[in-house]
Amino acid sequence: MKRVNKHTRAGQQGKTIYCSKCNSKNKVYHFSWSALTCGGCNDMIDKYDFLLQPRQYRSNQGRSTQQHNSSMKVIKIFILILVSLATINLITKLI
Ligand SMILES: [Zn+2]
Repeated sequence: MKRVNKHTRAGQQGKTIYCSKCNSKNKVYHFSWSALTCGGCNDMIDKYDFLLQPRQYRSNQGRSTQQHNSSMKVIKIFILILVSLATINLITKLI
């Protein structure tokens, strides 16, 4: 993801930058500032936290799928622990 860096120039037409927090558009005509109040979330955003392209939500969806997979793994481990606990319980009863 492209972010504003020290080489970013606005040019004569200005430049549209996107807030990394709320993804809203902000147009600037120069970069001689270190932080800017975002028009979308009214928060002070650091210059280098602004993005040159809107955030893509596709990558976020991929991340949530990964989270789903890892939570399924946790459930599987939990079931495994329950089964082994039940087995231990059964063995102690038999003894
Ligand atoms: Zn914002």
